[in-house]
Amino acid sequence: MMKSDLEMKSNHVFLFKEGSSKFVNLLGGKGAGLAEMTRIGLPVPPGFTITTDVCREYIKDGEAVLDKISHEVDEKLKILEKETGHLFGDASNPLLVSVRSGAPVSMPGMMETVLNLGLNDQTVKGLIAQTANERFAYDAYRRFVQMYSKVVLGVDGKKFEDLIEAFKEKLGVKLDTELDKDTLKELVVAFKRLVRAETGKAFPEDPRLQLKTAIKAVFESWNIKKARNYRRIFKIPDDLGTAVNVQVMVFGNMGEDSGSGVGFTRDPSTGENRLYGEYLLNAQGEDVVSGARTPQPIDTLGKKLPEVYEDLLRVSRMLERHYKDMQDIEFTIERGKLYILQTRTGKRSAQAAVKIAVDMVEEGLLTEEEALMKVEPEQLDQLLHKRIDPKVDTKVIAKGLPASPGAASGKVVFNTDEAAKLGNAGEKVLLVRPETTPEDIHGMVAAQGVLTSRGGMTCHAAVVARGMGKPAVVGAEEIKIDLEKETFNIDGLEVKKGAIITIDGGSGQVILGEVPTIEPELTTEFKVLLGWASHARRLGVRANADTPEAAKNARNFGAEGIGLCRTERMFNAKDRLPTVQEMILAETEEDRKRALNKLLPMQKNDFKEIFRIMKGLPVTIRLLDLPLHEFLPKLEDLLVEAATLRSTGVEEDAFKEKERVLKKVMALSEHNPMLGHRGCRLGITHPEIYEMQTRAIFEAATELSKEGVSVELEIMVPLVSEANELRFLREKIEKVANDVMEKFKVKLKYSIGTMIEIPRAALTADEIAKYADFFSFGTNDLTQTVWGYSRDDAEGKFLHNYLNNKIVADNPFETIDVSGVGKLMRIAIESGRGAKKGLKIGICGEVGGEPRSVEFCRKIGLDYVSCSPFRVPVANLAAAHAELRHK
Ligand code: PEP
Ligand code: MG
Repeated sequence: MMKSDLEMKSNHVFLFKEGSSKFVNLLGGKGAGLAEMTRIGLPVPPGFTITTDVCREYIKDGEAVLDKISHEVDEKLKILEKETGHLFGDASNPLLVSVRSGAPVSMPGMMETVLNLGLNDQTVKGLIAQTANERFAYDAYRRFVQMYSKVVLGVDGKKFEDLIEAFKEKLGVKLDTELDKDTLKELVVAFKRLVRAETGKAFPEDPRLQLKTAIKAVFESWNIKKARNYRRIFKIPDDLGTAVNVQVMVFGNMGEDSGSGVGFTRDPSTGENRLYGEYLLNAQGEDVVSGARTPQPIDTLGKKLPEVYEDLLRVSRMLERHYKDMQDIEFTIERGKLYILQTRTGKRSAQAAVKIAVDMVEEGLLTEEEALMKVEPEQLDQLLHKRIDPKVDTKVIAKGLPASPGAASGKVVFNTDEAAKLGNAGEKVLLVRPETTPEDIHGMVAAQGVLTSRGGMTCHAAVVARGMGKPAVVGAEEIKIDLEKETFNIDGLEVKKGAIITIDGGSGQVILGEVPTIEPELTTEFKVLLGWASHARRLGVRANADTPEAAKNARNFGAEGIGLCRTERMFNAKDRLPTVQEMILAETEEDRKRALNKLLPMQKNDFKEIFRIMKGLPVTIRLLDLPLHEFLPKLEDLLVEAATLRSTGVEEDAFKEKERVLKKVMALSEHNPMLGHRGCRLGITHPEIYEMQTRAIFEAATELSKEGVSVELEIMVPLVSEANELRFLREKIEKVANDVMEKFKVKLKYSIGTMIEIPRAALTADEIAKYADFFSFGTNDLTQTVWGYSRDDAEGKFLHNYLNNKIVADNPFETIDVSGVGKLMRIAIESGRGAKKGLKIGICGEVGGEPRSVEFCRKIGLDYVSCSPFRVPVANLAAAHAELRHK
């Protein structure tokens, strides 16, 4: 019965059974959906659709088109009459319909629906005769008069509600359902009186006039202000027009063998393959969602109306086979017969998305590739961290930046040493600080999570917590911390040390009290899906990992290597910091070397552990990047301390030492550390630091190789902007490498490469490539330097304003800025590979784990992306999506 494309063009009105989902533009989304469901044999109440063409003609030429299509409407009505055995406008056996809009693009709330159209003082009697239920009939009638008058005649809806309230008061009842048949009958009269008073005309009794005016009102609604605004906001073209759907009414409120419900073809929160939903007997759709009566779980329908339940199961399977996805359905049961009113793709939790995708492959419904596309990469993030149990109500007291996802509860502790002590003793604590510094690391490690009142998404607390996979909320400025009193204040609410709070690093919420959390789990299905993703992609996925723990996580989540091991994190550890400071503060070369020699075995052990865990997979170790003053106490603190010591004047030695440190810190302080003495610049002016690090790396690798553990070593130099920097350092690195290999009589394969994170490096990539075995884009710094932004300042001060005013479409630190940073990356790749064919190129900036950026990286020909271990599954799936979309 389906019409050909040509026939679809020449008519204006189509029965549901004549269309299909192919004709969305002509029939609108709803019309095409109803047609498709009818076509595959689902029990859909019959109806027809007036096309969007008619709407466009109406808008252009006005009402004439309504007369032009009237015979087609009549013709289709006759078919509906034949199919249902009811007659439109018949006083003894009336056919009632609903009239709904439906544009090609969903525009929810644009026009309300008119239900029960066809009722008047005569046909209502027929409805009573058909149903033997006078209350039902008058309730249907008053609903119709109310909806029609509001939607079609434009009478203020509140006036009808006021009348209902007045009647309820008179009867002394609270609920609409308590209105008896006589009152409902009186309400109809009162409503009609209101209509005459408001419009100056009688309520139209003629069903054909009701239908014609309802159709007209739907067309008119296309150009009302809210619809025009909606289209402007969502960039929907104004010339699409809306279709009109006229459908036979079915009633769920015709007794205990009738009902209404909503359902999912699978459990939307666990993904379990069972029908899931709720229903009410003797009720209409709106009763199920209104909450006036408590709906019943769907499986109990099996006992009450077993045949209907069986039908529902059959329909559910049919829908899934047809749409190849979990569906969300609305249904009505009218006197023991099931009708499906709507179906659409069902929303689901991340856990359910993964399970459903994998199960559907096993059931033969989907191919592996199709299943991969059913799960959103970003959704996976939810599965990798502890989360707040979504079923629990919470008391949010403040909001900060969602710096590192996951939820954590614990006692508020302000002192880092105390947090470390309690945490190590097994207590659950949250470290709360204005901000954190390298000196706080031991407290962060021992705490469940970190909350700071200052800082942006790349402040110390944020970066370190993300690396550890520990929840963090930073920059929660409403929180006023008093470190002396050990309390914090939010708008007069005082939270003391020891009080229990919860932070949600995924949303930035700070919550009073303990909130139950759910553990992340790498379910079997999750692992299976990630396996398929790895197989489908060509882009490599590595992790940024600086510690053995992070390396273990990286492997667990499927990383194919470490793309960035930041060695400064190793310098930061509590047991190293004094030695690092000794090294920096050294007055003579000798003193400095002595301190470095103490650091060497510690670094070597770190590397050995990491190499062992990575079992021969590539490990990119980046030599020291951070400016030295970051390892020293803060200048302001030192000034205060020195002044105090001077004024007390007792401890002469202590004062002198403080002053020595102060001088050094002042000498190292910079106007703009981000652009200052760091990275390879530091490596060139203080060669002994990189020498020590290189020695530690090679000694670790040679010792392991003697144990039979292989290592794929990549040494990376940060912040290069000029080829000669890399040439200079490469020579030094090779010299140390040769020294060690000769000493241990071991030959190691290794490569030396560089970060591309300064615009000049990208622009001179051909020159740099001469000395580089690989490139890795450091898009954190590259974005800062291309935009001329310091990230913390931008995110803390003006970027949100830029986003609100649409000056920038996206935060370039969250997703790659394709037209600026991306353009520079393309230039670097082309010129780098032009100079050195097949040059290996990756990315290790934070965007390396963000799906849109991953897709871009694939497109421009990178070999791999590297991101935080907890983002590895996201990047894995995103890379698979990018590949499959490209196909
Ligand atoms: C980068 O700049 O992108 C990068 C990875 O280095 P870091 O964040 O350590 O500066
Ligand atoms: Mg960098």
